[in-house]
Amino acid sequence: MSGAGGPSHFARIVPIMPVSSPVPDPRGRFGPFGGRYIPETLVRALDQLAEQYAAANRDPSFRAELEELYRNYVGRPSPLYHARRLSRKVGGAQIYLKREDLNHTGSHKINNTLGQALLTMRMGKRRVIAETGAGQHGVATATACAHFGLECVVYMGEEDIRRQRPNVFSMRLLGAEVRPVGSGSRTLRDAINEAMRDWMSSVETTHYCLGSVMGPHPFPVMVRDFQSVIGREAREQCLDQLGRLPDLIVACVGGGSNAGGIFFPFIDDKQVALLGVEAGGRSTRPGDHAAPLNFGRPGILHGSYSYVMQDDDGQTCPVHSISAGLDYPGVGPEHSYWKEIGRASYATASDDEVLEAFDVLARTEGIIAALESSHAVAKAIDEAARRPADQIVLVNLSGRGDKDAAEIARLRGVEF
Ligand SMILES: *Cc1c(COP(=O)(O)O)cnc(C)c1O
Repeated sequence: MSGAGGPSHFARIVPIMPVSSPVPDPRGRFGPFGGRYIPETLVRALDQLAEQYAAANRDPSFRAELEELYRNYVGRPSPLYHARRLSRKVGGAQIYLKREDLNHTGSHKINNTLGQALLTMRMGKRRVIAETGAGQHGVATATACAHFGLECVVYMGEEDIRRQRPNVFSMRLLGAEVRPVGSGSRTLRDAINEAMRDWMSSVETTHYCLGSVMGPHPFPVMVRDFQSVIGREAREQCLDQLGRLPDLIVACVGGGSNAGGIFFPFIDDKQVALLGVEAGGRSTRPGDHAAPLNFGRPGILHGSYSYVMQDDDGQTCPVHSISAGLDYPGVGPEHSYWKEIGRASYATASDDEVLEAFDVLARTEGIIAALESSHAVAKAIDEAARRPADQIVLVNLSGRGDKDAAEIARLRGVEF
């Protein structure tokens, strides 16, 4: 919890550990990254969560219940779609889309919130809190809570409330309370600060449903596991439909959950290249982007050691992205690890490239993608253009773009 939002609640300890496999270790370290940098008050809750999660994983009825929800409530498996017109237009490799935008609530976030809602009930808790940036995680959490009859409070920065109005209204329709956060940059990182503050005083009765592969152990590994349904399905679909694995997988990276979810089941397939795309924003100057893996350095943010955008004093820098869901100065520790060992690479897409990719996909394929996902589409188009027609580029289309229509209209100065 470092940064301009107030004094840090978490000790600034820099762990020195060699990069090693397998990961994570029992303390949640991916090489030197991850771990737990938290106040005393949360240790018990995180231990309980780790234990309950391990027990749930061993319990076939837990997996069966989650799988049933994925199938009949979320609408999984999400399709693997050959974007033929886009591929032809680009004139290189074949582009395939993993259609997480078609999930109930419109993004991959629901894969995680249903898993955590089931765990909440196993722990005997009835109240759930969450942070949200674009509002997708807030809506997915509110949805899971409505489904199970759990109380739900969502923290959201005032700037994000302004640019993602439809999702704010949806959360309220679903019975959740949306609490505006007016501190700091009034965006995602401030919302996480407030959610953690709430949790420290309510941990006995409340589960914090974190929305990405970040934060203290066990969140990074647990959220990655819930999201890895994306990659497991995609791997099977590639083998069934194409008879082989893709050459490259591209996904956008905010906290890193949709990327982690699609990458993880392919980690041992060394012939499959993995490319994460961070928010390149307006320029490469600090404050103009949200790309810690490209421009940051390791540090502690929100309870975990990973790449962070920070100044010389270790204070978290302001960040910018056109997409609220990527507007975050940190990234999940496993991505820092994959970068360090060279298993995945990480590029950026600028706001302008993203808007162009958004238009191209809408007009060639009839798919309005989220601005977050359009980062992945932009880099996938560049990569496909440089590859021969017999190669396969798989893009994780993490969400749909209806929520972004008003913001795009505002940016273009047209009426909504
Ligand atoms: C939240 C969100 C993201 C960014 O979060 P990750 O944890 O990096 O996946 C990306 N795409 C969509 C559609 C989102 O809602």
